[in-house]
Amino acid sequence: MSLEKYEAVIGLEVHAQLMTASKMFCRCPNQYGSSPNTNVCPVCTGQPGALPVINKKAMELGVRAAIALNCEIHPESVFARKNYFYPDLPKGYQISQYEKPFCTQGYVVVQLKTGEEKRIGITRIHFEEDAGKSNHEAYGTLVNLNRAGVPLCEIVSEPDMRTAHEAGQYLRALHSILRYADICDGNMEEGNFRCDANISVRPIGTEKFGTKVELKNINSFKFVEKAIEYEVQRQVFAIENGEKIIQQTRSWNSAKNVTEVMREKEQAHDYRYFPEPDLPKLVFSSSWLDKIKKEMPELPQQTSARFKAAFDLSDYDASVLTSSKELAKYFESVVSHSKNGKASANWVMNELLGRLNAVGKEIDLSPVSSTQLAELIAKIDSGEISGKIAKTVFEEMFATSKDASSIIKDKGLVQISDPAALENVIRKVIESNPSQLAEYKAGKVKLLGFFVGQAMKETKGQANPALLNELVKKFLDS
Ligand code: ADP
Ligand code: ZN
Ligand code: MG
Repeated sequence: MSLEKYEAVIGLEVHAQLMTASKMFCRCPNQYGSSPNTNVCPVCTGQPGALPVINKKAMELGVRAAIALNCEIHPESVFARKNYFYPDLPKGYQISQYEKPFCTQGYVVVQLKTGEEKRIGITRIHFEEDAGKSNHEAYGTLVNLNRAGVPLCEIVSEPDMRTAHEAGQYLRALHSILRYADICDGNMEEGNFRCDANISVRPIGTEKFGTKVELKNINSFKFVEKAIEYEVQRQVFAIENGEKIIQQTRSWNSAKNVTEVMREKEQAHDYRYFPEPDLPKLVFSSSWLDKIKKEMPELPQQTSARFKAAFDLSDYDASVLTSSKELAKYFESVVSHSKNGKASANWVMNELLGRLNAVGKEIDLSPVSSTQLAELIAKIDSGEISGKIAKTVFEEMFATSKDASSIIKDKGLVQISDPAALENVIRKVIESNPSQLAEYKAGKVKLLGFFVGQAMKETKGQANPALLNELVKKFLDS
């Protein structure tokens, strides 16, 4: 196969919905799931004479994104009309930004599975209002304008990615950053974080880009990677077959695992952009920009660095624990109550995430709260229960959401650390195994483990292991 003679060139365009209370140019709620056509007014339904007013919060969130993505912010930018005709666009144009976006030239650092990091350039971010939604039913199409006028940032990357994996990691990094900084809630099912992927291929060693194909609206990280992989192969095979790649827009069919043509270049829109006459130039004062910079929340990379330093975690552990803001918060809460960073990291990553994964739940729906998990860890550290018993207790906590203390009490699982109680058990075990005792006395010292095991079994695993070990040895050697 000739796939390895080619290299893919990939650039992504992401539409991220901004977490504002109201729409971009009117006071209608920015709210998903309301009854159709209830969050509407003369402005966002394009009634004659209605005038837009800029939502300051949307501008602030855009500036935050620009800072988080290391962009150059332009104090002056211009809104533009993007004209096209579609039933879910009542004005006949979208207010967007074109020649003068509010920011350009940023980058994101992404982690690759090779352990390397790669910097992906961001060409520009511009503001844009969303269109409404057309719902295609068997009997016809219904238009819902609740989404019309909802504020978006469109984030355009440089064609810097070379594999589906790199594109997936870029998208994950972007998603995580926007969520950390409370810019976008990132809900992909509700369409609040949407991605178009531009893909071309070229023979390895050549500079010139091939003709690109645009994949529209792919709504999960996994699908983005699969769709790109498929599309790269399709293009290589076509070229090897002597065909020419045609510039077109395609969509991902997740049932068939293929990309399909939506439209060809000849059908491309001419948007006839021009500056929006109903809005002034967008001007950011330097004091306002400084204020936003000062108020920036912590970003994933910073949280990760802080965790590594404070709790002595590996790069990997820190990256897992900061993979989402909710998980990072949960972990911090566990540590603050358990006062044991390493154990908290292990319990969250190995036991809790493992169980959550198995039942397909996210951390915010964990049946075990952070304070409950911290209490369990503290009980191991204080010697009240052994690590082994703790696993049994945890299973029960996960199944019932009960506190560790009530499970330990109900099931009588408290660790036995009373020497007198353990000595009784040990005496019994030694008396009932005379031949092993004789062998031990004759020099087979590794039988110590046998006696400890028997005694542990006798206590149903509740003996304090260190103490038990010490006492068994004392008895055998006396
Ligand atoms: P268009 O004019 O079609 O909108 P742009 O140059 O604005 O194209 O780029 C849109 C997106 O496509 C960007 O993310 C860019 O990085 C990417 N891109 C541009 N050319 C190519 C190419 N030949 N192959 C892959 N991606 C590309
Ligand atoms: Zn409105
Ligand atoms: Mg373009």
